[in-house]
Amino acid sequence: MSRLVVLAGPTAVGKGTLVRALRDRYPDVWVSVSATTRAPRPGEVDGVDYHFIGDDDFDRMIEDHALLEWATVHNSHRYGTPRQPVDQALAAGRPCILEIDLQGARQVRETMPEAHFVFLAPPSWDELVRRLVGRGTEDEEQRRRRLHTAKTELAAEAEFDQTIINDNLDDAVRALARIVVEGE
Ligand code: 5GP
Repeated sequence: MSRLVVLAGPTAVGKGTLVRALRDRYPDVWVSVSATTRAPRPGEVDGVDYHFIGDDDFDRMIEDHALLEWATVHNSHRYGTPRQPVDQALAAGRPCILEIDLQGARQVRETMPEAHFVFLAPPSWDELVRRLVGRGTEDEEQRRRRLHTAKTELAAEAEFDQTIINDNLDDAVRALARIVVEGE
């Protein structure tokens, strides 16, 4: 079985950018596509960024035990990891990444303790706020909720096996590659 890496970290820390950059360099890395009940942002593609589904379909996936983990994130929408594609990618020997929130990471730690848990941290709190405001995809109320969650998430860093500080993207990609691809 290949390695399963769970990558978590606060809002706007750059998880998506980091994972995309890693996959560009290492096409063999498999990245889970989550299901979510939130609406797509401009430019997001169904089946690529997320499986955008309704509440009924999400309920059904929970009932069918089709999710490896799921959580309500930022007190608003539900997000979950479809189980079967992960099992298949691991069985095929591909290094796998789940980019999920802290609640989801804790569930995976219970069910798959052999997974490797990586925390992506911002260089500073001010920089995190700057990135969230700068990407301009959330209104003020949503930003307030996300920063509230971020405080809890940052406090949980010690639960993870390793921390990567996302200051310089190239350095962060190299650090994640050592864990995901080289199995350090
Ligand atoms: P966003 O709405 O910005 O795409 O994602 C919000 C949060 O949901 C991020 O912290 C992201 O890691 C988390 N998230 C995305 N997919 C999943 C998932 O499948 N499970 C869990 N638990 N969290 C997820």
